[in-house]
Amino acid sequence: MNQFLSRRSFILILTMSILKIIFKPIQVLASSLTPKEKWNLSKDEWKSRLSPESYYILREEGTERAFSSQLNNEKRKGVFHCAGCDFPLFLSDQKYDSGTGWPSFWDSIKGSVETKVDFKLIVPRTEYHCSRCGGHQGHVFNDGPLPTGKRFCNNGLALTFVPD
Ligand SMILES: [Zn+2]
Repeated sequence: MNQFLSRRSFILILTMSILKIIFKPIQVLASSLTPKEKWNLSKDEWKSRLSPESYYILREEGTERAFSSQLNNEKRKGVFHCAGCDFPLFLSDQKYDSGTGWPSFWDSIKGSVETKVDFKLIVPRTEYHCSRCGGHQGHVFNDGPLPTGKRFCNNGLALTFVPD
């Protein structure tokens, strides 16, 4: 029995070491590209990390005033990151002027956001959030331009822009 167990542990350790070697390059990539490791910070940790305005949007699903964000007029090439955890969410090529007063995108970087339905305005709306830290970004509607027909209506305070 003991022998069997130790043999099993040996195989387990061996397998783990092999897996570690195989997955190491992927883990390095994970920190910058894929939402493999979810963030799970406490309320206080978020409060010390964010401005009160960004905290209200990202952690309490708030909405900023229309036309209040500088990013609404941002037209340079670059990447829009989550203001909570710096995860890349949108490319400048996915941005368009929706005329709504909020930075709008017709698509997001694959796997960067997740959606859920909210009933805050009674009519169901699809809320979306950063897939890494769960920070609320905005709502997605089906009145956007082709090819997706989507309009990701984003709070500027929930984003940071990194020019190319
Ligand atoms: Zn985030």
